[in-house]
Amino acid sequence: MSSFLRTASKQVADVRSFLRESAGGQSIKYSAEKGAKHIIYIPYITENVIDPETGVETSVMKPCAIQQSVHEWSTQDGKFKATICLKDVIRHQDENDPNSPIINDGTCPFCDRVSDAWDIYRYRKELEEATCKLTGEQRKNHLDATFSSYADERKAKDARPYMYLLVVKYHLNDKGAEVLGSDGLPEYDLKVMKLSASRVEKIQQQMANSGSDLLDSEIIFEYPNVDDRRLLVSQSTTAPVFPDRKMVTKYPGLKDKINQDIAKFEWEGIEKSFPEWTGMTSVEAKKVCDSLFEQWDQYKKELAVNPTAKYLEYVVQTPTATPSISGDGIAANGAMPVVPQIPTVPEVPVVPTVPQVPNAAPTVAAPTVAPTVAPTPVVPTAPQVPNTDPNAVFNGNGGAAPTVSI
Ligand SMILES: [Zn+2]
Repeated sequence: MSSFLRTASKQVADVRSFLRESAGGQSIKYSAEKGAKHIIYIPYITENVIDPETGVETSVMKPCAIQQSVHEWSTQDGKFKATICLKDVIRHQDENDPNSPIINDGTCPFCDRVSDAWDIYRYRKELEEATCKLTGEQRKNHLDATFSSYADERKAKDARPYMYLLVVKYHLNDKGAEVLGSDGLPEYDLKVMKLSASRVEKIQQQMANSGSDLLDSEIIFEYPNVDDRRLLVSQSTTAPVFPDRKMVTKYPGLKDKINQDIAKFEWEGIEKSFPEWTGMTSVEAKKVCDSLFEQWDQYKKELAVNPTAKYLEYVVQTPTATPSISGDGIAANGAMPVVPQIPTVPEVPVVPTVPQVPNAAPTVAAPTVAPTVAPTPVVPTAPQVPNTDPNAVFNGNGGAAPTVSI
């Protein structure tokens, strides 16, 4: 009888692929990395198309990419969530049998809740305007910052388009130079970069300014040595590599090798790295949305029979911060401290005017228009993912850098 160990154990082919497999699907996700330099090649696929009018066959370069619109929201306990917009997605239980039960009927509960989310925003905004006792510039600054965070906290937002771009990330040594494999060619990993439309536009523009195309280009990304995930991306620099300095130019045979890998690449499975691609059934999505809006729905129902009904989901607890004797709680410029704002709800006692550290304005742009047209607050798009990039242990950057998808 063969032993379990002999039957079930697997030889480790090499340490690098072991680490990559252990990291699961995360290894395919491209992540920004604190203080690091990345050299990325943007591969492409060539397609022959025949001009219907002239009959002439030409080849067209296309990015290896998929795109879709994504709804993003945060749960009450601050967890980042995302799902692909379900609008017009029709899916049957058995994809080969159109008569099997339908599991996606083309509706999107997240889209359907966007206006409710704006109603909540307006409710909170009006309450804050009515109860805020500040005046002048202080009032304006406080309200701007508050409304901006209310906009961020919306429970449902319009889906935003993202491109998932397949890229080649070269392995670099601690001097920033390429690492060569046994075949004499630079080592690399295929990665999927998640890019918002504005980010694609920015990179595209930078390439255009230097006279190159995005496809078939090599770009150097350099990330600042900061912990703030938003700054990590917004303060990063991208610079195109001169055509004659590109790895694919310097190393004959590299492009062929990359193209062979690209041809084998399958998008199937990227939901392990990008959970929004897991998808949801119509029923699941409705359940999630109904639960997010449970208290709002109750309030609307009660309001129909009781005009004084209140929506209490965001009613803040009595602040516990106490000012220190040294006056730390007072703004440095000697301005009146911000009074904690407690909505005038009967159950909540009126809070004395305890000086409190003024609310730090979030670093997001404040929407300046009425929410009847959706403003475009700058929303961080960074899912909070642990750094499980197995390459981190090889590139000499300490390996523990926080990561963020861009
Ligand atoms: Zn949708």
